[in-house]
Amino acid sequence: MIITEQKEFDEILRSLKGHERVFLLGCGICAATWSTGGEKETREMAARLAEAGKDCTGWIVTEEATCDVRTTRRLLKRNKEQVGLADVLLVLACGAGVQTVASLVDVPVYPALNTLFLARLQNLSVCDERCRLCGECILAETAAICPVALCPKGLMNGPCGGYEDGKCEVDRERDCAWVAIYERMETLGQLEQFTVIHEPKDWSKMRHPGFINKRDKKALGRG
Ligand code: SF4
Ligand code: SF4
Repeated sequence: MIITEQKEFDEILRSLKGHERVFLLGCGICAATWSTGGEKETREMAARLAEAGKDCTGWIVTEEATCDVRTTRRLLKRNKEQVGLADVLLVLACGAGVQTVASLVDVPVYPALNTLFLARLQNLSVCDERCRLCGECILAETAAICPVALCPKGLMNGPCGGYEDGKCEVDRERDCAWVAIYERMETLGQLEQFTVIHEPKDWSKMRHPGFINKRDKKALGRG
């Protein structure tokens, strides 16, 4: 899940300076689950903006992910009267969602959230980063625990000399990723894998900006 946080209200107001009529759009998937941009938060944001003197022409929350151009386009069309009255759109979604909306309308679009990381959701209050989107997943070699995301040094062969009682030297509150990998391999009866030396990571696989066209077999290396 993509983790977001709400921006300070003052920052949102600054970004809306010079605009009077605002339409709000929340995301019904990640931002709703993490309570940063679901129905409740979008409605509350509309009320705060109204209190601050803005004219809220309406608000909606996408049922699908806001970053899906197809469904967000349909939703904006269904609400075109309220959207058309606005001179700015405020989006409570991740950065990809904000840019999706911006690609579909001809008025300024601003983010109400900061986008933080890709996480495992432990419960509705706790999540932890689990993947840095490195483009070459090595979880098969690390007992399904990611050292790229969980080791602050991103070590491919660990642990380093700084761990103590299973805790990381960079942050003693956190478990050392490589101790966790060792312990899981031990549980799985795969300890022989722990002594395998991993080659340096090929960071060229981490492609930015990422782009994929599944219909283009050549681009996928299958042509
Ligand atoms: S190895 Fe790369 S793709 Fe796999 S979980 Fe870690 S960061 Fe994500
Ligand atoms: S103590 Fe473990 S998690 Fe922390 S930097 Fe060293 S190897 Fe990485």
